[in-house]
Amino acid sequence: MVRVRAKLVSWDEVVEWAWGLADRVRESGYKPDVIVALARGGYVPARLLCDFLDVENLLSIQSQHWTEAAKAEERAIIKFPYKVDLSNYRVLVVDDIVDTGDTLRLARDYIRDTWKPKELKTAALQWISPVAKFKPDYYYIEVKEWIWFQYPWTRLEDTYQFIKRMLQEKHKETGKTTWTLQEIINGFKEWYGIDVGEKYYKEALRILQEKQIIKQDPETKTITLIKTT
Ligand code: ADP
Repeated sequence: MVRVRAKLVSWDEVVEWAWGLADRVRESGYKPDVIVALARGGYVPARLLCDFLDVENLLSIQSQHWTEAAKAEERAIIKFPYKVDLSNYRVLVVDDIVDTGDTLRLARDYIRDTWKPKELKTAALQWISPVAKFKPDYYYIEVKEWIWFQYPWTRLEDTYQFIKRMLQEKHKETGKTTWTLQEIINGFKEWYGIDVGEKYYKEALRILQEKQIIKQDPETKTITLIKTT
C-alpha cells in the first residue's frame, strides 16, 4: 500500500510544463528583462524560461525554510543576501512549485525591497492551491491535492531520504534491521508508488552508508540500518 503520495516527473514533462508557463507569461504581455531563479528548485525551470521567453539575464537567490533549534515554528530565510541594482529592469522570479508559498513570498519581498526592480512578477510550474498561502502571478498547473512531485533534479536526494524514512519506519513497526537490495527496491516502489531505477537506488544506498545511516555488507549482500532514529 502506498504510504506517501508521490509522482515521478519526467524531463519531458518539465519541458512541457515550462512551455506552458512561458506561454502564460507571454500571453499576459509581460516582458521580463531579468529572470531570477529561486534556488535550488527554480534553476531548471528558470533556465528553460530564459530560452522560451528569449531572456538573456539570469540571476539567482536562495531562500529556504529554517527551523530554529528548539522552536516549533518554521520561518523562511534568504540564505546568502546580496544587493544588485535592478531599478531599470522588469523581473520574473521563477520556482518549481509553490507549496506553502513562504519561500517564494520571502524572495519576492526581498527582491522588491532590496533590488528595487521596475516591475516584479512571480512564476512557478505548479501551485498547490489548498495549502499555499501565496499565489504566484503565473503558474501552469494547479495541484488540488497535496502530493510530492519527484522532479528529475532531486531524484537522488529524494531517493536516499525516502529510503531512510522507510527503513526507520519499518524498523519501528517490526524491529527488522537487515534487508537485501531487492527487498528495499520492492519496499520503495510499494511505499511511494514510484520506481526511480536501479542506478538511483544503488547511489542512494552509497550516500546513506557514507552518512553512516546504513551499512552494506558486500559478502552477504545485505543492508543493515545503523541509525534507527
Ligand atoms: P514553498 O512552499 O514556499 O515553496 P517549501 O519549503 O514548502 O516552501 O518548498 C521549498 C521547495 O521545496 C520548493 O521550491 C520545492 O523545490 C520543494 N518542494 C516543496 N513542496 C514540494 C512538493 N510537494 N513536491 C516537490 N517539491 C516540493
